[in-house]
Amino acid sequence: MLNGLRGRLNWWRYKLSVLNSLGGQFPRSCPICGYEGLFSSVGVPPRADGKCPNCGSYERHRLFHLFQDRHQLIKPGEAVLHFAPEASVRRSIEAVAGKYVRADINPDAADIVLNIENIDLPDAEFDVVVASHVLEHVDDGAALSEIKRILKPGGRLIAMIPIVEGWNQTYENADVTTDEGRTLHFGQDDHIRYYGADFRDRVKAAGFKLTEYTAQEPDVSNHGLLRGEKVFVAAA
Ligand SMILES: [Zn+2]
Repeated sequence: MLNGLRGRLNWWRYKLSVLNSLGGQFPRSCPICGYEGLFSSVGVPPRADGKCPNCGSYERHRLFHLFQDRHQLIKPGEAVLHFAPEASVRRSIEAVAGKYVRADINPDAADIVLNIENIDLPDAEFDVVVASHVLEHVDDGAALSEIKRILKPGGRLIAMIPIVEGWNQTYENADVTTDEGRTLHFGQDDHIRYYGADFRDRVKAAGFKLTEYTAQEPDVSNHGLLRGEKVFVAAA
């Protein structure tokens, strides 16, 4: 009886501590909007200090911005095509791009409707394609070959993906066909795989040369980033 009570009390203490953490654990600074202070949690289950309360940026958006700033992933004046365009990344691109086009499969989400597996654009049209958290949703072989086709010679794909670096092999499973199954197996109801370290082989097999930029300290603790998260830059 007493043990049961103690167990329930601990469970409530645990739930309260999770609730408490939602409003921010440590002060962070946002490289996108300049906000300094507590961040909020984002996602289910929550990622503490994931979201800037001022501009709404997530960890991956801030990482993209930092590396764009530091390494000029996109060079001034370049023509950029941005798939599934997130507002926080848009700001970073628009500050530097000469031409900027946002594309999505959903007509309400962007400037033009494009299917990344079968891109309705001529060859060698863009200097840079940005696809952050897109490839895990689609036939990536088709998408990578289409992206390569519409890039100018020397153009680059900037890609971010969820990846399990401890896996040598990407996990795909044809038996997983429901929303619930995809959430269980791939982390989200519209993901169709979970990448392993061989993501790199897929990109190289499509004819790209790969460079990687990794979230490290002190950036991780300063800006609320995901440890080890990567920005992949694939040169056509
Ligand atoms: Zn911000």
